[in-house]
Amino acid sequence: MGETRGVWHKIMSKKAWAIVLFGVGCVFAIALYNSDKLPGVIITSPDPEPRMRFGLYWDSLQVDSGKIKSGQTLSHLLDAYGITPGQVATLAANSRDVFNVVNMKVGYPWWVASSLDSLRVPQWLIYEKSKTDYVVFSLSDTLGAYNGEYPTDTIYKRVQGVITNSLSMDIVAAGESEKLALSMASVYDWTIDFSHVQKGDSFDVYYMQQRVNESPVNMPQVLASNFTHRGVDFKAYRFDQGDGPDWFDPTGASLRKAFLKTPIEFGRMSSGFNKKRFHPVLKKVKPHLGTDYAAPKGTPIRAVGSGTIIKSEYKRNNGHYVKIRHNATYETQYLHMSKRLVKVGDVVKQGDVIGKVGSTGLATGPHVCFRFWKHGQQVDHRQEAFPPDTPVRDDMMDAFAVEVNRLELEADSMLSVQSR
Ligand SMILES: [Zn+2]
Repeated sequence: MGETRGVWHKIMSKKAWAIVLFGVGCVFAIALYNSDKLPGVIITSPDPEPRMRFGLYWDSLQVDSGKIKSGQTLSHLLDAYGITPGQVATLAANSRDVFNVVNMKVGYPWWVASSLDSLRVPQWLIYEKSKTDYVVFSLSDTLGAYNGEYPTDTIYKRVQGVITNSLSMDIVAAGESEKLALSMASVYDWTIDFSHVQKGDSFDVYYMQQRVNESPVNMPQVLASNFTHRGVDFKAYRFDQGDGPDWFDPTGASLRKAFLKTPIEFGRMSSGFNKKRFHPVLKKVKPHLGTDYAAPKGTPIRAVGSGTIIKSEYKRNNGHYVKIRHNATYETQYLHMSKRLVKVGDVVKQGDVIGKVGSTGLATGPHVCFRFWKHGQQVDHRQEAFPPDTPVRDDMMDAFAVEVNRLELEADSMLSVQSR
């Protein structure tokens, strides 16, 4: 042995030994790294399923992809693949019933799939119309197209929280997407002014979210929700009575219900909105920026929409009056009350009695002067276009009650799962 070692010493310098040892080390390291592939630890698995995408055998194609660029037409895009303008015209014409190619939008993804051989014959163009839908164009002899959909799933979640900053910040702080806050805000658009929610208000929302490959697509849909604003509960339930989903309160009234037509139930309009009215008390032309409803003293005055009381006071001309902020756009004002029944900061619901008819201030007889503010300007509310506010129809009330019950049970089951 000694002799052999001596021979090796003669053949190899110290440096050479270092290289050999390094090499051996590397071999072991690679062997360890690949140990799952070494004999003895091989795990046999069946041949992998062919990878499908857009309904095509994706692995048997070579694929380019990109996004539609500004000013890029289908001709531009396909020119690089040897498709002639004539073929593109035929493709566009053949596909028109499925998808009009002029509707391709900048920034939307596309794929061109060609044969795997060296000829690289372009076979398919895929254009993603939305996060859920795509169009497959055939680029071979049969120029044409068909629509496809990604497989989607839907998850259901319930989230509760207390407002410390704003609805969107607190929804995000609860680990949810800001889009959920937008969905909630749109449900309550006509009911709650989210720019004026306060600390201690709370939300409790049960919603569904459509997903593709576990990523959310489309807006989350509020199914059942309660927003507690200054101690008042505002519940909303999603229900479809045949003309698309809408949101209703527990009584079946639409949450988009805009405003009551009048602030008093059986009032008689005694003077309309008129910018050139001759004032009966002042005996001169003075614009009348409200609508008067005459009624006996003491008749209840109703809030025409839900909102927050921002004024409740006495002024020489207005007498006892109340002003309500309904949302970011609208405020209403009620003048000449004999009695005010609300104070600043109170939250009222549509129809709540806020005061009684009187003739305080500049008034000749008992009436309420109803004033309607839009973006800080007084307008004639009878000329305003409001969204449709169809309530649940009488013949759908039973189905609505069943649905409300179902949503409540589902939402409750979410909580018991979470608390386990
Ligand atoms: Zn008036």
